[in-house]
Amino acid sequence: SISIRNVDKYYGGNQVLFDINLDVKREEVVCLIGPSGSGKSTLLRCINHLETINTGSIVAAGEIVGYRMHRGRLHELRPKDVGRQRAKVGMVFQQFNLFPHLTALQNITLAPRKVKREDMAATTAYAKELLARVGLAGKENSYPGQLSGGQQQRVAIARAMAMRPEIMLFDEPTSALDPELVGEVLSVMKDLAQTGGKTMVVVTHEMGFAREVADRVVFMDAGRIIEAGAPEQVLGDPRHERTKAFISAVL
Ligand code: ATP
Ligand code: MG
Repeated sequence: SISIRNVDKYYGGNQVLFDINLDVKREEVVCLIGPSGSGKSTLLRCINHLETINTGSIVAAGEIVGYRMHRGRLHELRPKDVGRQRAKVGMVFQQFNLFPHLTALQNITLAPRKVKREDMAATTAYAKELLARVGLAGKENSYPGQLSGGQQQRVAIARAMAMRPEIMLFDEPTSALDPELVGEVLSVMKDLAQTGGKTMVVVTHEMGFAREVADRVVFMDAGRIIEAGAPEQVLGDPRHERTKAFISAVL
């Protein structure tokens, strides 16, 4: 689960998140929508401590993001503890960021071997299982350059899953793909949402996906959560003027 309380975030003197409050239950799927620059990526990155927050707190997978409690006081995490904490939260980006000189299998097994020090046989077996699950059985030894964009993004999803994170964050995972490749990635994400037992937060412009897969849709604008609710409500019958304007512009 994720619990975000009274979060403000500044870049320099520029405030980009304003008093964000959001709870995502265990195994809930939340789609985060909103115009460009509204703070969706920033919020997602704060959950993974890729960005620090200025006010408030975030608890993800049972831990205070970026801090630990010791003798009743909060202490900032040391870098190696940040890594351990981050392993509980998988993230998939718009740009897949696979290591070009490693095969699909090596991309997936790298972090479990390095961070968790899992043994090679177990890691490899799980990586193969994940590749099959994202529809890429047989592509173990392919390099990213030998795979389509949709295939690369599916490897990136498998790589994030390899750490067995409790939470998966997706930041517009299909928006860099050619249109004909979007469906295969969305269908893998849908499968994860419905069978994965993961808590998921997905930033997306794919309203069909949000409508079909999300338990809840959250609309952000100008650094604030404007409206949140069931997909039918937020997408079909938005209450707030700004949500209405956004929905009618994207549909
Ligand atoms: P998009 O849909 O275009 O991806 P977004 O909703 O993800 O937009 P963010 O990327 O979170 O929006 O940006 C929120 C605000 O923070 C914007 O005003 C952006 O210019 C600013 N911003 C984002 N990253 C940085 C950064 N590293 N340094 C300074 N300002 C930033
Ligand atoms: Mg973004």
